[in-house]
Amino acid sequence: MASPGATIQQVFNEPACDKNRGKDARARKHGCSKPLTPGEAAGGCAFDGAKIVLQPITDVAHLVHAPLACEGNSWDNRGAGSSGATLWRTSFTTDLTELELVMGQGERKLFKAIREISQAYAPPAIFVYSTCVTALIGEDIEAVCKRAAEKFGLAVVPVNAPGFAGSKNLGNKLAGEALLDHVIGTVEPDDAGPYDINILGEFNLSGEFWLVKPLLDRLGIRVRACIPGDARYLDVASSHRARAAMMVCSTALINLARKMEERWGIPFFEGSFYGISDTSQALRNIAELLVRKGADPGILDRTETLIAQEETRAWNKLDVFRRRLQGKRVLLNTGGVKSWSIAHALTEIGMEIVGTSVKKSTVEDKERIKQILKDGNHMFEQMAARELYAMLSQGEADIMLSGGRTQFIALKAKTPWLDINQERQHPYAGYEGMVELVRQIDLVIHNPIWRQVRDPAPWDCPPVIMDEMPTTTSEMATVRALKTCAGLAAAADLDAC
Ligand code: SF4
Repeated sequence: MASPGATIQQVFNEPACDKNRGKDARARKHGCSKPLTPGEAAGGCAFDGAKIVLQPITDVAHLVHAPLACEGNSWDNRGAGSSGATLWRTSFTTDLTELELVMGQGERKLFKAIREISQAYAPPAIFVYSTCVTALIGEDIEAVCKRAAEKFGLAVVPVNAPGFAGSKNLGNKLAGEALLDHVIGTVEPDDAGPYDINILGEFNLSGEFWLVKPLLDRLGIRVRACIPGDARYLDVASSHRARAAMMVCSTALINLARKMEERWGIPFFEGSFYGISDTSQALRNIAELLVRKGADPGILDRTETLIAQEETRAWNKLDVFRRRLQGKRVLLNTGGVKSWSIAHALTEIGMEIVGTSVKKSTVEDKERIKQILKDGNHMFEQMAARELYAMLSQGEADIMLSGGRTQFIALKAKTPWLDINQERQHPYAGYEGMVELVRQIDLVIHNPIWRQVRDPAPWDCPPVIMDEMPTTTSEMATVRALKTCAGLAAAADLDAC
């Protein structure tokens, strides 16, 4: 097993990463390890990134070896769904105090915490996360995990991704390395079959993978492991026996997909379950990969039949929204796979994408956007809050889709906004998810609140001062205009006055 420093260097030198391939040998050796500028980890540190990737493994106890705040920072900040186990949502931390740090009692406290969890909850595994403080004082979590695993007879997995190592995205990849080093391949399944697949980089946010899995079930395709969404430890541990894999978010776990292909011959493709045609294409690709790996070619026809049925059903449901949303302009402020997959999904129903952020997108993501939007002019690397506000308040978009952090810019600009990041409340994957996404956009755009909040505030209107009751038609018209401006009465009500 490589040292943490060597692992980070390896992750930076990912051969499947296009950005990396585009560099010369010297730049590649240097890696992507530029130091973070202050504030850059505001979107999450490496520890946070590792926790995001691993926490949705639902029957595992996730133990954060740190003072209390790191767990407070990362606990349950994404809406991943579980169909069974709930242990992953219990917060475990060694909660180191200053005195314990000074006295060097961290490792002992960690060992005791592992014992306590194993006795109280008997999980199949405990994941132990290092953090800035415990890494800086040199806690050897690998040694403690090894000793605890032998003593308590369960898997204890060290996750070496302290916050200072780098960005959230680096932490995502280090989590993949932890799975490769300590989990995947440690259990041999006795029921491996020709239709087993893995789904990688799918987080089951708002339970959206549950809208896709029934489609795979109907085709007789078994999801050996969805990593990490709604995953169980033993499924992940035996996922090396899958025949094919789909990579949903390559920004997070491309290293995992590539290494599983190299070590266990599991071919993978990158796809998306957002949008009608992307969902259909993903199902086709899965079927084709399985046939390449020896499955009955009959699955190709079965897949086409299912796609035809589901597409017809979804388009019938979307028809009413298509008429209402045709030509509406969308500003997408998200990242990674969503920067192109949601853009594609919305253009399918006739909406116009006026901009999509590509800050966290790979080179391939950007190429896809260019193909979907026919040019690269609508991509923006990063937009300052001020510019976003200016764009929205000038009415250049009818709705913004983004994460919760930028919602207030849209709301301040009196522009409809919909959450499509991790805290969203509705599942948007698969055919049904697309219908739900469009339904939510329609509800938000056509919500009457926008007309009301855009009306001038009563205190911004000129006062209605009349010495006498209006008698002529023109006086009545003046009062009507002033009262409507002040929101005192709808024009129609005035006639009743
Ligand atoms: S790991 Fe470091 S950067 Fe991340 S939350 Fe903890 S102290 Fe902060």
